[in-house]
Amino acid sequence: MQRTIEIAPSILASDFSKLGAECVELGAAGADRLHWDVMDGVFVPNLTIGPDVIAACRPHSELPFEAHLMVVDPDQLVPRYIEAGCSTVMVHVEACIHLHRSLSRIRDLGARSGVALNPHTPAEMISHVLEVVDQVLVMSVNPGFGGQSYIAAVEPKIVEIKTMIDTGGHDIDIEVDGGIGAGTIAAATAAGVN
Ligand code: ZN
Repeated sequence: MQRTIEIAPSILASDFSKLGAECVELGAAGADRLHWDVMDGVFVPNLTIGPDVIAACRPHSELPFEAHLMVVDPDQLVPRYIEAGCSTVMVHVEACIHLHRSLSRIRDLGARSGVALNPHTPAEMISHVLEVVDQVLVMSVNPGFGGQSYIAAVEPKIVEIKTMIDTGGHDIDIEVDGGIGAGTIAAATAAGVN
């Protein structure tokens, strides 16, 4: 299936002293949606954005917000990020003991469900949950910090996931996260990312 290419810049790269204005600027620059990197200081060695911050920014943008939860035990936080205005919520396969349930619950709460995979995590880890997934997030850096270098070794995994999705006839976006720029976006797209 041919899918529209969308760009979802991460708020992590913005000036945190003026997040509302940064949301406006990203919209004017042509962003398709805004990506909120949520870190808890446990799942990843950094601490970032709580739901109240996102809720405060919500009136400043008409773009869809997506929350990428890099946290342990994401189930307890999912409703807070949906209430804050995120229409997509992504959880890590490595952080969910009952992944199928976590993803189903995101949908039940009215949002699009996403599943994220760290660079070392094989594609097969999500092969039995695709029926409850709207978006797959392939990490092309080890999560925790902005500005890291793209790991091209994840491209064969993107191809595998794209094949799984197409073979199963699923309606699922594939997003890539980390080190994406003018020099890396073409290869990621060729592998199957949209
Ligand atoms: Zn992210």
